[in-house]
Amino acid sequence: MAKPVIFHIDVNSAFLSWEAHHRLHDLGETLDIRTIPAIIGGDKEARHGIVLAKSTLAKQCGVITGEPIVKALQKCPNLYIAKPNHTLYLERSRAFMELLRRYAPVVEQFSIDEAFCDMTGTEGLYGDLVAFAHKIKDDVREELGFTVNVGISVNRLLAKTASDFKKPDLVHTLFPEELPDKFWPLPVGDLLYVGHSTAERLRALGIRTIGDLAHTDKEILVSHFKKQGIFLHEAANGIDTALVSDEPSASKSYGNSTTLPADVVNGAEAERILLALCEKVGARIRKDRAYISMVSVTIKDTDLKSRSRQGQLAAPDNTTEQIYSAARKLFYELWDGSPIRLLGVSTGHVTDDACFQYDLFDTGKREKLSKLNAAVDEIRTKFGTSALKRACFLEDDTQKKDNDV
Ligand SMILES: [Mg+2]
Repeated sequence: MAKPVIFHIDVNSAFLSWEAHHRLHDLGETLDIRTIPAIIGGDKEARHGIVLAKSTLAKQCGVITGEPIVKALQKCPNLYIAKPNHTLYLERSRAFMELLRRYAPVVEQFSIDEAFCDMTGTEGLYGDLVAFAHKIKDDVREELGFTVNVGISVNRLLAKTASDFKKPDLVHTLFPEELPDKFWPLPVGDLLYVGHSTAERLRALGIRTIGDLAHTDKEILVSHFKKQGIFLHEAANGIDTALVSDEPSASKSYGNSTTLPADVVNGAEAERILLALCEKVGARIRKDRAYISMVSVTIKDTDLKSRSRQGQLAAPDNTTEQIYSAARKLFYELWDGSPIRLLGVSTGHVTDDACFQYDLFDTGKREKLSKLNAAVDEIRTKFGTSALKRACFLEDDTQKKDNDV
């Protein structure tokens, strides 16, 4: 079997460099906002204006992604602020993914400006894959006018970590034999799945670096972090079993996320939001008479660090209850108690026929659920989404901003 080779390709300061390129090439402006202290910041009403992306000079002033614009202006009074332009980002993102699909047999879009490419077995076609990563990186710069970092390893976790090393416009490897030099010395908070509060708890146990975590007895971690302890121990040892999967085409994936107007800090509140997301996603799947067998949950915390976890259903399904039960489980595997700014549920591995593995006890329950879901959808189609609400939403008046994926 060929040794796995995974690329993680990440656009450097995506929103800012896309905006800069647009202004220079489409609008004919002469000022490159990448060369001054500048940020992309926006949505004053909903999020009180936060920094979404920053230029190198803004970074040097101490401006941090995710902080309020007001605070950034205190650090850097002559900061240039450009409004976000989501139409432009989507268009640039599409062009970027198209270029990657030209070369990689499997491309999984991970966010608007990053993707995993499974390059396993392509050496025969492209030769040395580290050299080939340089070619992809240079092609993006020449053709599309922005720079990327490429991280290369044997799995997603390590590839993504590597692409976050020194920026911009660079290729980095993080192969298993490089862990002691390049991975273990990093602060434990740099580990992909470690949020603020986990990092603090780890430090309280004297675990300061990823290497400390890798060499901590698994039992000790389990006693403090339960199931998440095993997961953390594996991650610190560079183990990640999630595979890169083909991105389903737009109509073949169903997802919904919500940016929360106030950070969510308790599990019950998060569960209600997850259920609301699953209801919306489920309704869209059923409307297409489709079934899904993969569910993925994304959490973004207040420093905009995004974490996702995906899982398989036992069989293709489209009921809100099954999607929610999988999403809830994934959520608790992922959540470390940090305040949550964004929650997302997406689904994939879409099929149009349900090859249910009926078992004697399950059949009746599943049919009941399907009928119930169909009835709810019909009422909502006729009378609007708010016509039927689950009891747990009745007290919930939070205004949320929805972003359909
Ligand atoms: Mg990026």
